[in-house]
Amino acid sequence: MAFATKFIFVTGGVLSSLGKGLASAAIGALLESRGLTITLQKLDPYINVDPGTMNPFQHGEVFVTDDGAETDLDLGHYERFTHAKLGRNNNFTTGKIYHSVITKERRGDYLGGTVQVIPHITDEIKKSILSVVDSVDVVIVEVGGTIGDIESLPFQEAIRQFRTDVGKDNVLYVHVTFVPYIVAAGEVKTKPTQHSVKELRSIGIQPDILLCRTDRFLSKEIKAKIGLFCNVDVDQVITAKDVETIYEVPLVFHQEHLDDKIIALLNIWTRAPKLKGWERLVEKLKNPKSSVTIAIVGKYIHLRESYKSLNEALCHGGIANDCKVNLDFVDSETIDDSNCRERMAGADGILVPGGFGTRGIEGKIRAIRFAREERIPFFGICLGMQMAVVEYARHVAGMDGAHSTEFDKDTPFSVIYLMTEWFDYKSEQIQKRDITSDKGGTMRLGAYPCIPKKGSVAYRAYGKKEISERHRHRYEFNNAFKEKLEEAGLVISGISPDGQLVEIVEIADHPWFLGCQFHPEFKSRPMNPHPLFVSFIESALVYKNQRTIDL
Ligand code: GLN
Repeated sequence: MAFATKFIFVTGGVLSSLGKGLASAAIGALLESRGLTITLQKLDPYINVDPGTMNPFQHGEVFVTDDGAETDLDLGHYERFTHAKLGRNNNFTTGKIYHSVITKERRGDYLGGTVQVIPHITDEIKKSILSVVDSVDVVIVEVGGTIGDIESLPFQEAIRQFRTDVGKDNVLYVHVTFVPYIVAAGEVKTKPTQHSVKELRSIGIQPDILLCRTDRFLSKEIKAKIGLFCNVDVDQVITAKDVETIYEVPLVFHQEHLDDKIIALLNIWTRAPKLKGWERLVEKLKNPKSSVTIAIVGKYIHLRESYKSLNEALCHGGIANDCKVNLDFVDSETIDDSNCRERMAGADGILVPGGFGTRGIEGKIRAIRFAREERIPFFGICLGMQMAVVEYARHVAGMDGAHSTEFDKDTPFSVIYLMTEWFDYKSEQIQKRDITSDKGGTMRLGAYPCIPKKGSVAYRAYGKKEISERHRHRYEFNNAFKEKLEEAGLVISGISPDGQLVEIVEIADHPWFLGCQFHPEFKSRPMNPHPLFVSFIESALVYKNQRTIDL
């Protein structure tokens, strides 16, 4: 079989959290900088069909793609580092693979055969990999988990077979491993890497490139030692040194000649890499002219992974303003009337992010009230927008006890509610849902169009007549209260093209107060920061400077 597309498989050894996702994204960025077209895919060994139902405390953020897939947070890195257009085929889990094999088996597709891991599961995995080829030059596939895990074995077997299927010259195996510096010995240790590669070779995969995660550049001698024990050429042993900012990773890899090696091994000819953009970005990140502090009032504050895209989007908003953004995570459960001022002291902007569940809801509403009354820039995202509407209804529009029916089914003013019937643009069908619907499948997910209102903060920020943003929620603004809230001064500044769904709200008489039903953080890029985050950080800077003058 002749194959034009090349494949890079990225596996991980020794331990998790070595930055395999970032490494894959950075490889993508480097190849793009040489003029190649690429895409990325993540294969996850867990049995959930997708991470949509997983607790963010355990799994980190659920990243949503334009086509409405709930995916692993590594896809966020891929989108932020590259121009790849990702969708549901860019993330497969063991659960999703088995689900389709079992569906086929029930349908009788296997014609009475015994259905087995090899070849049926491995064939399904290989088919999934091929589903993203499209017309790109290189497909980068990251295999989740660590070599040696039982559950990732079928994926490893599939990628082993893959090289034979598409030809030796078309496949490259990159193994990310750990080379720790042991203080007591005063040297770096290569044994964990040797063991991990031994494990990989025992299942038939000889890595071509080793990306060694470490806190210092590895000497020629150490690289030679690793190369000797792992059967890898010394110049294919690459130092993946710790960095100050994640956006430095492509530059550090390039310095180690990783992209030169990859194209040589895959036998591809490209132009020289253009890395000016990345260099300028890192330069800006390392030398900010000012700083602001944003209080993030949420529930998952102990695990920064849960707000990955949000943290990055805030950082991007800072880049556009030459400003470092410090994040102050405040547990909403601990905020009440008595301590709100003290907890928010030092915040130049307040942000309430998306979330699920009752815990800490009143604390979020308290923080929003504080931002509104004290005229501090406020950004509410999804649940944050919904609670901004609740706060306004309760304390400005005179709707005492107003709430979202998610948290109070008997509220006298259900300003946020479950829309049981709505027209879905994507399927062009009426969608129905109620509280008994499946947890996995009833959300409004993925990209939806929105029309910002002329003259609003949103309109000025976007500078566009129509925008598209990604959603992930069940509850919506209740149009029954629209008039009353507008009369009380709430500005509905973004609606769906048919006028049925309220997507953005603002307060006119406030320096910067905006809530959006969608998640703008998913579409922010370091080189193309999201307009709402740019505008929010700008207003936080103005607020900070004003405050300093007032003092
Ligand atoms: N829990 C809310 C809803 O389902 C908000 C969800 C979110 O913030 N992503 O509508």
